[in-house]
Amino acid sequence: MITSAELRASFLDYFAQRQHERVVSSPLVPANDPTLLFTNAGMVQFKELFLGRERRDYSRAVSSQRCVRAGGKHNDLENVGYTARHHTFFEMLGNFSFGDYFKREAIQFAWEYLTQVLSLPPERLWITVYEDDDEAADIWLKEIGVDAARFSRCGAKDNFWSMGDTGPCGPCSEIFFDHGPEIPGGPPGSPDEDGDRYVEIWNLVFMQFDRDAEGKLTPLPRPSVDTGMGLERLAAVMQGVHSNYDIDLFRHLIDAAAEVTGCADRADKSLRVIADHIRSTVFLIIDGVMPSNEGRGYVLRRIMRRAIRHGYRLGCSEIFFHRLVAPLVAEMGEAYPELVSSQSNVERVVKLEEERFAETLEHGMGILDEAISALSGDRIPGETVFKLYDTYGFPVDLTADIARERGLSLDMDGFEQAMAQQKERARAASQFGAAQTREIQVQGETDFCGYERLQEEATVVALYRE
Ligand code: ATP
Ligand code: MG
Ligand code: MG
Ligand code: MG
Repeated sequence: MITSAELRASFLDYFAQRQHERVVSSPLVPANDPTLLFTNAGMVQFKELFLGRERRDYSRAVSSQRCVRAGGKHNDLENVGYTARHHTFFEMLGNFSFGDYFKREAIQFAWEYLTQVLSLPPERLWITVYEDDDEAADIWLKEIGVDAARFSRCGAKDNFWSMGDTGPCGPCSEIFFDHGPEIPGGPPGSPDEDGDRYVEIWNLVFMQFDRDAEGKLTPLPRPSVDTGMGLERLAAVMQGVHSNYDIDLFRHLIDAAAEVTGCADRADKSLRVIADHIRSTVFLIIDGVMPSNEGRGYVLRRIMRRAIRHGYRLGCSEIFFHRLVAPLVAEMGEAYPELVSSQSNVERVVKLEEERFAETLEHGMGILDEAISALSGDRIPGETVFKLYDTYGFPVDLTADIARERGLSLDMDGFEQAMAQQKERARAASQFGAAQTREIQVQGETDFCGYERLQEEATVVALYRE
């Protein structure tokens, strides 16, 4: 069986042998890019090259990029625990051309790598292209000889890729793997494509435009290529398992999570959430993010608290999350030596956050349970959601996660009203100066940080509603 580490090496070697420069992963916090929360794709560190604003002495590159998708345009937080294929943290394998090769070679490389190097059977691979991309369609159907029965054209939602609201973008072509008829889900482009039977493994983006804040597309100086393939998804295919959470790398993490939480059912979704979230937590911390009440730090806090709450769901009465740092380092320290050197520091940060949240978690859960048993409909009142958020440090998405488990929803209008009132109080208080502000802060909120965090949560709420 090929391991995840061997797959990573195989991909990098294949493209290095084809004149691609090996470039190391950049950090999760993008350098000088306020438009982006976290590095969410391999192309992020090459953005300026695509735009023609930077030159390097190579025009082809290959990388294995660590990515986080837990906020912003690409947000998979809500998918973790529910699909077999999504993580908040994952590694993206990618090859890039900066005005060098374009569609033909990108498609040829991908097909050769999958069917010749990895020997995947062509009849299990499905292809999509952007609806009006005849050029890519011809290459797949006429040159590569893909069966038209496993080929489709899709709209912009899936086949026009962009990093964020602005920046480089273009039509793309995607490769899916059919995990077999036992698994529910229809082929790409069909109405039930959201199942997990046909899993998207590789996206080939034909970078052609720069989108500005008004949405206007300007052609890039030179057409380029950006591809991305999830290492964990490829490992699942190559290791003959359906779920990413059953690959070598995750098996060990799930074992460790089962041990520290005392949960015997290795298929329990909470173990998957915890195993996923320890990766994003640790990698965000080593890349300089600290749990806090604003910006990136708040996203990290949301991830951590969500994982901690899943431990609580499994019956953990002691703090446990920091105990998963060591197993993660054992698993990934070889590929990322910085994990080893920061281990004790990271453990300290995680433990501190656990201790903070432990003080309010149990009490907050009690309040939520009470509110739920008093419900007449199936919506948790906005007042309750706000109180949990404001007084007990429950990020809204955490409460939403609990609601979803129990088949309930949240009254977001009510939440926003409560938040608007709080904002008004905070604004009024700040006009009165420090004394009153302090008074309001002391008045009850263990975790009240005023105006900025409310702003932040408003952004999160907007994301959550999308
Ligand atoms: P999906 O439709 O399955 O959510 P995507 O279209 O959002 O995937 P892309 O933005 O095209 O994904 O990213 C390129 C590749 O990165 C995907 O083909 C997949 O292999 C991998 N990938 C994307 N999101 C995740 C994730 N949350 N966890 C693991 N791998 C991912
Ligand atoms: Mg996605
Ligand atoms: Mg997709
Ligand atoms: Mg895609």
